[in-house]
Amino acid sequence: MGSDSTDAVVIGSGFGGSVTAARLAESGVQVTVLERGPWWDTVPVRSMGIKDRTPLPRGISLFARAMRSVYHPLLPWGRTRINRKGLFEVYYSRGMEVVCSSGVGGGSHVYSALHRRPARPDYWDGHCPDLNEASMAPHYAAFVARVGSTRPGPDNAPPHSAMEIYSNHPEFTPVVPKDEVRVGFRFPEDPANPKLTQTEAGIERWETDYSTGDHGFLGAPSGSKSTMDFVYLGPAIRKGLEVRALCEAISISAQTGGGRRFRVDYFDHNQRVRATIEADNVFLGAGTMNTLRLLLESRDRYHGLSGMPNLGKRFSGNGDIRGFWDLNDQDRDYSEGVPSKGAIKLRDESLPQVGIGRNNLPSVNSYPFPKFIRERLKRGMVVSGMGEDAMDGVATSEGRRFRIHFDPSNSPIYRQIHDALMEMGRRSGRRIYAGKTPATVHPMGGACVGEADAGGVIAANGEVHGVPGLYVVDAAAFPRPTASPPTLSIGAWAENVAARFLARG
Ligand SMILES: Cc1cc2nc3c(=O)[nH]c(=O)nc-3n(C[C@H](O)[C@H](O)[C@H](O)COP(=O)(O)OP(=O)(O)OC[C@H]3O[C@@H](n4cnc5c(N)ncnc54)[C@H](O)[C@@H]3O)c2cc1C
Repeated sequence: MGSDSTDAVVIGSGFGGSVTAARLAESGVQVTVLERGPWWDTVPVRSMGIKDRTPLPRGISLFARAMRSVYHPLLPWGRTRINRKGLFEVYYSRGMEVVCSSGVGGGSHVYSALHRRPARPDYWDGHCPDLNEASMAPHYAAFVARVGSTRPGPDNAPPHSAMEIYSNHPEFTPVVPKDEVRVGFRFPEDPANPKLTQTEAGIERWETDYSTGDHGFLGAPSGSKSTMDFVYLGPAIRKGLEVRALCEAISISAQTGGGRRFRVDYFDHNQRVRATIEADNVFLGAGTMNTLRLLLESRDRYHGLSGMPNLGKRFSGNGDIRGFWDLNDQDRDYSEGVPSKGAIKLRDESLPQVGIGRNNLPSVNSYPFPKFIRERLKRGMVVSGMGEDAMDGVATSEGRRFRIHFDPSNSPIYRQIHDALMEMGRRSGRRIYAGKTPATVHPMGGACVGEADAGGVIAANGEVHGVPGLYVVDAAAFPRPTASPPTLSIGAWAENVAARFLARG
């Protein structure tokens, strides 16, 4: 078993992990990132000089590389790993299904790159004395600037938008968002002629090619999507950041005997050995599910941590329900453009008024299916809604079993979205296939920011109450559902944690 040490260990390299790791390393802190998944083989990652890369799932490897792991109550110990280099992880429970992802850059490879503020304008107010909308504002701005999050103009707007199709539709109308929606794509100056470009840090990436549709939830090999591996980690690696891919944290233990010090045990999938690393500070950015699992198992199974009486409580699925709208629209190939094509709602105000997002299925040309199936899939859409649920889920660790307990009947939003989807299907004459069980790609909460005696697990600087040096930098920290796509807020939260850590000196 190898052992080494550093100033700070960051677990996970999604939005929370990458932002924190990069900001700390760029300010001279010695940081090691442990990421359980591989580097993905993309143009920017190649340009960064990373040698050991894994192709994103395409073609026949779609089956082998799409799934990393599955959690299901009927599996032995409740879980199984399918492929250590797989892209997705799925959690099944009676009340909720959760999908998250794996690999350097985390969910930035699979997301649709929508950047939105939380639905409530006072989202950050009233949880901790020194945390509020005003204190978070510069951190939102820092994330937007680093990612280059933007909007297309009239000359390079992607096709099949809600405005283009539904402005004068008898049944549906586009949802005009109250807040600004930005997108983490490099839009083409000339859509007919996308070019190879360089980031400020000299990393290569292509402008988005609207004709390929090869940049959705199966990743973007061309680098057209702004992913955390090259936006945050790449420049920071040049300043000394160490990223250990295929290294999976197992537990965190607070060391006893003077001063604060942590030991992180992990499994190195490259060498197939267990190893440990010690650090004064540990930042958890493993994504809500894995951050909660690591904290719960470190406390309840490995007894390396203690306290955290509110841990696991106030878990939310962000109201997510999704389905597939089998439009079979012969006039449109929805695989073109960018993944998200804007939201619509029912025009008749006496019907459920929920905004329903429309996304394409990505990279359909690469699916190992007969052509007629691929063509049909290109002519339909993934549809989804989100909103504020009761945030009353509970995550637990019982022996080796990690579970989510969630009763959707406590949250009217799930029923409202399902009803809206079914009505949309009826009104369009084209069926929408959607389950009633919440199926979220936006899990959040469970290690919420707030005062300890008011249900909080962490303080305004991300530090766990009663465990100095241990921080939560991802959406597990969120105090309430965002009711909107959360990555902009995760990035801002991690910017906040990093800034407060650095300000402490
Ligand atoms: C299909 C899809 C589309 C989406 N579209 C959008 C969108 O348009 N806009 C938006 O805002 N959100 C979107 N999301 C949600 C978004 O991807 C997540 O909210 C976001 O990725 C969460 O960020 P995070 O930093 O909390 O964790 P993640 O991005 O999940 O990163 C966590 C990382 O930690 C790693 N990890 C986990 N456990 C360990 C361990 N034990 N040791 C080491 N590493 C570990 C994981 O492999 C992963 O790389 C989408 C999600 C999906 C699945």
